[in-house]
Amino acid sequence: MSRCEFTDLEQSTCAHCRPSAEPDQRPAGRWFHAVHPGACADCRTRFTAGTPIRMQIPAGWIADCCDTPTW
Ligand SMILES: [Zn+2]
Ligand SMILES: [Zn+2]
Repeated sequence: MSRCEFTDLEQSTCAHCRPSAEPDQRPAGRWFHAVHPGACADCRTRFTAGTPIRMQIPAGWIADCCDTPTW
């Protein structure tokens, strides 16, 4: 096992040696039905209450016009 020269931890357990986020992996919350009307952060389409939406960081609320609900 090789150790990290910065943290002196094994490289398999060192956070610095293991970049956490994949570049194209945007963290997203789970789907639920919108309580209030709003606008999709991706395409600016207005959605109504009851539309499936989810939070996608950092964009904001993404509606089912731009993503497929996973339920
Ligand atoms: Zn390291
Ligand atoms: Zn959209």
